[in-house]
Formats: sequence, structure tokens, C-alpha cells
Amino acid sequence: MKAVIKFLVLLELLQQLGAAKFPRTELKLEIAEPCDSQKCLLPNCRCSDVKLGGLIKNIPQFVTVTFDDAVTALNYEYFDKIFENIRNPDGCSPSATFYFSHEYTDYTKIHKLWAEGHELALHSMTHGDGTTYWKEATVDVFVKEFGQQLETVEHFAKIDKRDIKGMRIPHLQISGNNSFVAAKHLGLLYDSSWPTTRYTSPPLWPYTLDYKSIQDCPIGECPSASIQGLWENPLVNWEDIKGYKCAMLDACIHMPNDSVKDILDWMIHNFNRHYSGNRAPFGVYLHSAWFQKGDNYYEAFKEFIRHLNRQPDVYLVSASRVIEYMQDPVDGKPFKSCPKKRERTCNPKMCQLRKIDSGEVRYMNVCSTCPGVYPWLDNPHGLKTKKN
Ligand code: ZN
Repeated sequence: MKAVIKFLVLLELLQQLGAAKFPRTELKLEIAEPCDSQKCLLPNCRCSDVKLGGLIKNIPQFVTVTFDDAVTALNYEYFDKIFENIRNPDGCSPSATFYFSHEYTDYTKIHKLWAEGHELALHSMTHGDGTTYWKEATVDVFVKEFGQQLETVEHFAKIDKRDIKGMRIPHLQISGNNSFVAAKHLGLLYDSSWPTTRYTSPPLWPYTLDYKSIQDCPIGECPSASIQGLWENPLVNWEDIKGYKCAMLDACIHMPNDSVKDILDWMIHNFNRHYSGNRAPFGVYLHSAWFQKGDNYYEAFKEFIRHLNRQPDVYLVSASRVIEYMQDPVDGKPFKSCPKKRERTCNPKMCQLRKIDSGEVRYMNVCSTCPGVYPWLDNPHGLKTKKN
């Protein structure tokens, strides 16, 4: 008999959400069972595993460079130059992934990143007020935080929300099933909030949540339900110079000396665990503040990118491109076409706004007309008179 957790998730949202309306949704969650590779088949199901599987002889080494938190005029200066003069072995431009949160974000810069072919992904409206907020967040809270961010970015950055495929929870604070149920409900392709300290050598490949995951949960409670077709792109931990694990580079405590050579050697050492091993995607997970940790961090990072680019089979791609490959792994050239570049259609405006609750001023650059107040949870379009 199949064990079934019956639970009703009532999503009573969108009176608050303006344009798009989520229906009141009733979800029945089934417990995830151990993965059966005979039943779990690509493109929409893959068991959690440290092997790619199949008959792929030449596995491309993907590297995903991802940044969390607000995209601002200041940190955009870094982002704009990270892949200077770099082309992937297939001739395509490299892409990074930006898990950006709403507050302080410059939506004209989001538009530019999107037009350049980078991936934009969700990191919530409010970023919460610490880990407890996310630990205790219900499905409803996750759907609001991430669903309303979709509305905000589409409206103010003038980008197609169908291009937004992934999410990352602030502080990587997963909380059982809730965020994954919300991601599925929002129609996202993947989550990338879940670190692993256990599966670093050999590292874990991305997989779907149809079946029970083998992954450890070092931060929050593991999910127990089967979430069909939702991909998990795990954050495979790095090691600092004393061998302590860290999910994001900012969290690595024992760092090498502040010299380009020492930092570069450390990055290559972590990379080689994947490149000389099973070739599971290698993630470089950062906040832009990492570049300011020392005089040589940014240069070391760029030198690392150049090192990667000298390898004949290393591809700097977005997280959603990795998932695209996972759905249909092929030998040789991994993709049929390059990431789409778009025409820039943003007509920038700078708005001086106030937050409704605190009255604090926020400057917000947008591609639309200026909203009445600073957009926030339950008011993603920043309407002056809220209906609710
Ligand atoms: Zn964050």
C-alpha cells in the first residue's frame, strides 16, 4: 500500500496579487519512495545519483557561476566584466545565474542581464528577517514571496516571466516540503537551495524530486513528499583550506592568502574534484561582496574563469541550461543552440519611493512607469491604494 500524506494546502492568495490570480489550490502529497530507475525516466524524472548514467563517453564539465541578492548599479560593474573575452567551446557566450532579491534591485540592470543572455532567478520579495522566517514559512508564504517576485520583475524589468525558471531560498533555509510544493505550484523548473556536504566526492548530479532523495540536509528539514518533475540543482559544497565545507564561497572560513595565485590555486583545487572526478556540474556560489573580501579576489576570480576557458570541454552556463542538458544528455556538443540574446527594450526611469510600513526612502530604477510606493509583499506592483 502506498503511504499517502493527505494534506490540504489552501493557497488563498491573490486578492492581494493584482493581475495574475492563483486559484485556491488543493494538493495531495504522496510520500517519496526510494527511486526506481526503471520507472524514473528522462526527460522529466531522474534519480538522485553521483553518476550521470547512460552511454555518454565525453561528459562536458559545466560550471555555474551564481550570484545571490540585489542586483544594483554598483555590483553590476563586476557582473558586466566577469566573462570578458570568454566564449564557451561551442562558440556561445557564457552565462551566469542571478538569484536576485527585490529590495535595492535595479530593474534596468536586470533587464540588461536578461538581454545579454544571463539567467534571472527568484530569491524572494523581502528576503525575510532571518532564518526563522524561512524555517517556519508555509507553502502560502513561499508562494507569495516567490510568486509576487515574478509579478514584480515582469512588470518593472520588462522581461518575460516564462524565462524565469528557478529559485533559491534566502540563507538556503529549506523547510521540508513547503518550498518545493510552492516551486511546483508556480510552474518553476528547478530549485537550487539545497546544499550537500556528504556528496562532494564524488559530487551529486542534479535530479528530480519524484522519488526519495539520497541527499543530506545540513541546514533545514529534508522534503519527504514526491514533487513530480521538479528538479533540484544541489549546492555541492566547497572545502576551505583546512578542509571545512562551505556551500557558498562567502561562507568559507579559512581562506588562502590574499594573492591571485593562492586564491586561484584553491579554486582550481575545488574545481578538480569535479573535473577529474565524475564531472557533475561545478557551482561557484557567491554574493558580489565576496569580490571585496581582499584586494585580489576579483582578479583571482577572473583568472579562474580564464583557466576554465582554456579547457576544451568546460562550459560556463546558467543553472537552467544544466537542467536542459540533464533532460537530454548527449555526447559531444551539449546544446543545439546558444542562449538567446534579446533586444533591449528598457526605457529607464529613476523613482524615489517610500516603503509603506516604515516610510523609508528607496530609489528604484525601472523600465516601466514609476509605481506609487515601493513594491513589497502583498503589493508587488507598488500601487498607492491597495485594494486589500
Ligand atoms: Zn540572499
